[in-house]
Amino acid sequence: MEIDSAAIHAKLKDFFGYDKFKGDQEQIINHLMGGNDAFVLMPTGGGKSLCYQLPALMMPGTAIVISPLIALMKNQVDAIRDFVAGNEGVAHFLNSSLNKAQISKVREHLLAGETKLLYVAPESLTKKENIELLKEVHISFYAIDEAHCISEWGHDFRPEYRRLRAIIDEIGRAPIIALTATATPKVQSDIVKNLGIADAKIFKSSFNRPNLYYEIRDKVKPKEDIIKFIKQNPGKSGIIYCLSRKKVEELAQLLNINGIKALPYHAGLDAKTRAENQDRFLKEEVDVIVATIAFGMGIDKPDVRFVIHYDIPKSIEGYYQETGRAGRDGLEGICIAYYSYKDIEKLEKFMQGKPVAEQEIGKQLLMETVAYAESNVCRRKLLLNYFGEKYEPDSCCNCDNCRNPKPRFDAQKDLKTVMSLIKSLPEHFKIEHLANILSGTMNSLIKSYKHDESEFFKVDDVHNERYWSAIIHQGIIRNLLEKEIESYGLIYVTEEGEKFYGHPFPIMMSEDRKFANVDEDDEDEDNNVSAMHGGGGGDPVLLSMLKDLRKDMARKFNVRPWVLFGDPALEDMTIMYPLTIEELFKNCQGVGESKARRFGKEFIELIARYVEENDIVRPDDFVVKSMATKSANKVYIIQCIDRRMPLEDIAESKNMEFDELVTEIENIVEFGTKLDLEYYIRQNINDDVFDDVYAYFQEDATSDSLEEAMNELGPDYDELEVRLVRIQFLSMEAN
Ligand code: ADP
Ligand code: MG
Repeated sequence: MEIDSAAIHAKLKDFFGYDKFKGDQEQIINHLMGGNDAFVLMPTGGGKSLCYQLPALMMPGTAIVISPLIALMKNQVDAIRDFVAGNEGVAHFLNSSLNKAQISKVREHLLAGETKLLYVAPESLTKKENIELLKEVHISFYAIDEAHCISEWGHDFRPEYRRLRAIIDEIGRAPIIALTATATPKVQSDIVKNLGIADAKIFKSSFNRPNLYYEIRDKVKPKEDIIKFIKQNPGKSGIIYCLSRKKVEELAQLLNINGIKALPYHAGLDAKTRAENQDRFLKEEVDVIVATIAFGMGIDKPDVRFVIHYDIPKSIEGYYQETGRAGRDGLEGICIAYYSYKDIEKLEKFMQGKPVAEQEIGKQLLMETVAYAESNVCRRKLLLNYFGEKYEPDSCCNCDNCRNPKPRFDAQKDLKTVMSLIKSLPEHFKIEHLANILSGTMNSLIKSYKHDESEFFKVDDVHNERYWSAIIHQGIIRNLLEKEIESYGLIYVTEEGEKFYGHPFPIMMSEDRKFANVDEDDEDEDNNVSAMHGGGGGDPVLLSMLKDLRKDMARKFNVRPWVLFGDPALEDMTIMYPLTIEELFKNCQGVGESKARRFGKEFIELIARYVEENDIVRPDDFVVKSMATKSANKVYIIQCIDRRMPLEDIAESKNMEFDELVTEIENIVEFGTKLDLEYYIRQNINDDVFDDVYAYFQEDATSDSLEEAMNELGPDYDELEVRLVRIQFLSMEAN
């Protein structure tokens, strides 16, 4: 096909509204329109879609786009219809969500030759009737998006992807363009082989994202750490990834309790809630999304400022893909992952039910993650090396390891030992096995090869297997050692390595980091926190001073002392010694921000004097507010009430008795969260009753006790109504 540069530029402007191509887009488009196969490796957000959308609109026939993301197909199709001013036939999708009538419309447009782009899910493409249909259609080319799904060594393997080439041949061969944002050399080789596009031209953009900051943190009290981080970065958008739905729910709830607007997102939520939560994140009604990995594919929010991995991901590919959602506008993007080896062991355990081959692969990907996490080498160098790219500078200045370099030592002798070992063995082995030999670590594989009889097998307390595997990784990063692509992971000495072996030179490296081996679930921080609260562990002298002050202040503001600050709040003050209003509401139970600002000044002044006079060392630790009783429902309830949902509906949707719901709401409010029930009370409680009960709490009550209230108010008042008014009172006056 004749390629007219002016024409494609014109279409770029007409259809997509852009003035210039991004990166390699133009070359890729020219190549494809010239009738050739292409393999595009471009990071997320690089603009892969345009590489097939534009040629599809220009070339005769229909382009078939294979994509695993069914949820996104409709959006993509709608977008293309918009480009061409609403012509419905121009783009369609075929997947399991269509009904009969919709399918026959697609068929009609396809056969009429109107359709330029057809998005197909791989499982739909394997269907006989679809293959028969497409045989009748003139195909311009095939685009295989998210092509890493082809490889078992990718992070998102889909078995249906492996049959694509056979199906393409059945329908009729046309140029193939494969696209992905993450592929190690092994995955790249799998893609090329499986699709049979050995001659495809490879378009590889750099995967370096200079604006992203990478950091691995020891997983000690991660929740508190995360809350602290978010509070130090107020108003910024972020995503937190956890591996389980349960963790997602828990963490989202904890963040809300601590005054951070967060919503959960995982496959266990119904589609509507998921779409709603995603939408509220995009519209910035909430700052944080806590999600399983299901979240984020295809979302295009340019100003995500941080991505936190609460749990270490299963592979570096997954990690890179997820961190890639930060800072897409080229500005700040902070990527923090929490790591503990215990989590790795848990992930290994999860894999045990799977087929052996899959376990093998899973385990190796996991070990790469371990090596990455524990390494003291520049993260950027490690990541890019993993994806087959060299990063030359010694320091990127934008990762934890480069910002805090550790003392270095010369590893040339040890690296040479590794090479001597490799050369002495008739076959190639994986990193782990080599490291086991060098550290004298016995296992069945070592035994079966009789490698324990080798001169290299030395039990060495100083240099354990982790040390040796760090040395081997260092060799790989320096291009002296390499992993075989075919067998994946068997280590050999490269040509450059041979040169080093003949004439060694200094290889400066720092030892791997040592991480605490704690299991954060076992230590249950929530309990620790609760134990600090209300446990009477505070300072009794200060407590009585604070109580006196509370009495004076209550008089001054004409409120009841317990309305001002509850006893648990005062107790917390004697533990945490808050010196600023911020610290007061962040670190003390039942103290909301507005209350702290209204009444807090005198309290912190008193505390400051006391701390000064008594030389008190304050805990610099940050306290996370936690609920007395855990319940995944709480956040949901808070959100429903914010949206003024009738309480009956909330109870029903959560399958609760009304009474149970009110108890939950009481818990929430007693904890210091403000909930405005006015919308409900207005509709359901008589004004006079409301005024009476409210006045009782305001003027007569000596505590917030419900029992006392019922006794004082007498039998004319309905207990449930009193409870609701009490909730409203606590919310309005005390929180
Ligand atoms: P990928 O699939 O590589 O992750 P997309 O195809 O979704 O990326 O494109 C990412 C973003 O870049 C989109 O918002 C898209 O509109 C934009 N984009 C693509 N090509 C161009 C271009 N030539 N000029 C400006 N923006 C572009
Ligand atoms: Mg894409």
